[in-house]
Amino acid sequence: MTPISSLQSLSLLYPDSGALHVGTPYHMIVMVALSARTRDEQILKLAPKFFETFPTVHVLAAASIAEITDRINTIGMYKQKAKHLSAMAQMIVKDFDGEVPRSMNDLVRLPGVGRKTASVILVSAFGVPAIAVDTHVHRVVNRLGWVKEKTVEATERALLRLLPESMYAIVNRVFVPFGRTICIATPRCWTCPLVNECAFAKKNLVPPSNYEMIMQKIQSMRDGIRTLKTALEQSLR
Ligand code: SF4
Repeated sequence: MTPISSLQSLSLLYPDSGALHVGTPYHMIVMVALSARTRDEQILKLAPKFFETFPTVHVLAAASIAEITDRINTIGMYKQKAKHLSAMAQMIVKDFDGEVPRSMNDLVRLPGVGRKTASVILVSAFGVPAIAVDTHVHRVVNRLGWVKEKTVEATERALLRLLPESMYAIVNRVFVPFGRTICIATPRCWTCPLVNECAFAKKNLVPPSNYEMIMQKIQSMRDGIRTLKTALEQSLR
């Protein structure tokens, strides 16, 4: 199978949109900015209350750091993230008329927004083709042998050359959950649908004795994210 056909078949196994693909560009950029080194479930749990308190970018821009901190203090690096959110909201109001910008160059000007966050926003909020490469995507595509790169940035450039533009949006959607549950640090090759075409030399092919429990946990994680996304969607209506 080619990378394109592998990605197509994986996309059928991972049909859900990204965990934080909920609401408007404002909602998405806040959640993606908060999600650095934090599980999506934690962000989805705090999001309804956060957006009830700060329903628009203007309200967020006018809030104090202490008010923002108070709403996100259940996650890591919350003090730094509160400062970034405040500065980001103020810049969106001041420099972009209160609208989340739609270009990579403008997005990466925002405090706390790097290329990965910007790519996620371009794809999920605006449907602009981009590949958001995080550590999961980087690890998986290098193990598969699709690219041979040492850094996240080089992997992004290589994937942009390798794949057709029409497939860019699928990469992050598929490989983030895949990299969190199957192709983890000690990979679960014993249940991997790409095992026969993967170039990784140290495949872990023997299922552990508790493999049924692991598979149930993976399924309940996916179900949990769906439930939290639905609850957030309803709270934003
Ligand atoms: S076979 Fe193993 S290393 Fe290769 S993609 Fe699957 S889980 Fe990852």
